Amino acid sequence: MYLKDSKTVVIKIGSSLIINESKSIREKWLSDFALDIQNLQKLKKNVIIVSSGAIALGCKKLKLNKKNLKLDKSQAVASIGQIELMNLFIKKFNSKKINLSQILLTLEDTEQRRRAINAKRTFENLFKLKFVPIVNENDSIATSEIKYGDNDRLASRVAQISGADCLILLSDVNGFYSKNPKIDKNAKLIKEITNIDEKIEKIATKSIGEHGTGGMKTKIDAAKVCQLAGCHMAISNGLINRPIKKMLEKNICTWFLPKISKLDARKKWIISSISPKGDLIIDDGALNALKIGKSLLAPGIKEVRGKFNKGDHVKILDKNMNEFARGLSSFTSDEIIKIKGQQSNKISALLGYTSKSEVIHKDDMVEV
Ligand code: ADP
Repeated sequence: MYLKDSKTVVIKIGSSLIINESKSIREKWLSDFALDIQNLQKLKKNVIIVSSGAIALGCKKLKLNKKNLKLDKSQAVASIGQIELMNLFIKKFNSKKINLSQILLTLEDTEQRRRAINAKRTFENLFKLKFVPIVNENDSIATSEIKYGDNDRLASRVAQISGADCLILLSDVNGFYSKNPKIDKNAKLIKEITNIDEKIEKIATKSIGEHGTGGMKTKIDAAKVCQLAGCHMAISNGLINRPIKKMLEKNICTWFLPKISKLDARKKWIISSISPKGDLIIDDGALNALKIGKSLLAPGIKEVRGKFNKGDHVKILDKNMNEFARGLSSFTSDEIIKIKGQQSNKISALLGYTSKSEVIHKDDMVEV
């Protein structure tokens, strides 16, 4: 089983596992979950937990209703609830001799290469110290435009950066079904998914909005990041007691298998960016050059969309708007507007300073 064979495991738990519908904390579940983590440590695995629940616990403390919260207030509530969440974990985990640390991430911490490498080192050092990091989005600071938005995507990026070989999304269903199992009794659990094709995407898209949450869509997005990162991902039921023990024993869940990839860590990081800042639309000549491994130069760029800085992630689209590759731009979007369609030797004159000629260097680009 994939979990048994993995060295580094990321486990994402949603707020419904921490606090139930009648606003009671699921104390027993969390105490028993600590035993699951203890067992993984005994099996010599590195563990990272991505946990939601800060806003729910903050609301409980302040006796507020989550539904009526405005964004600025919810950020204050997240800041209050985050300590409640950590206190809860400390209470349940310390008695099992599990050492915990906390990491709060904002989107840029994983989407900027330098910061992502820094985060990777922090995880590695925590593993050496035998501490289990509990990760959450820094909700008290993040604004809506620059947010992961959901902990499924955050967890997949954490898995990719930490070099994890297994991500487990604990949900309130046994896995990914052919239809929504809460509505359709004939829905069948899909045990293994190798290829996220149109059929799978369609099932996932249908699930959005039914429960006011990400549903299966964000989980499929996370699976795509994992597939490219060479990481197995499972959707499994977290509502039951000792969910990880049950997974190891019975394996009732959906596994998404990784794609075999020859990409190095840096290119894996580029391809699985979760927030490209813009698009570069290129002509056929440039497309052919990219196909044989050349860098993207200014003459082949027809159009620039979005506003981005040097070093930001962008998508490269062909003239039919199909995504061909992703890369890190060597120029800002404003600079590319000035130099697009122009010969490379005119770039310095157009910009008023000397600069390199590749808009996206081949080493900074990955075909999708
Ligand atoms: P989380 O556990 O991360 O909070 P969500 O509540 O966002 O997860 O998503 C899980 C829900 O998605 C399930 O409770 C189920 O009602 C719904 N869902 C919709 N379509 C499917 C499907 N094809 N397979 C499994 N669950 C589905």
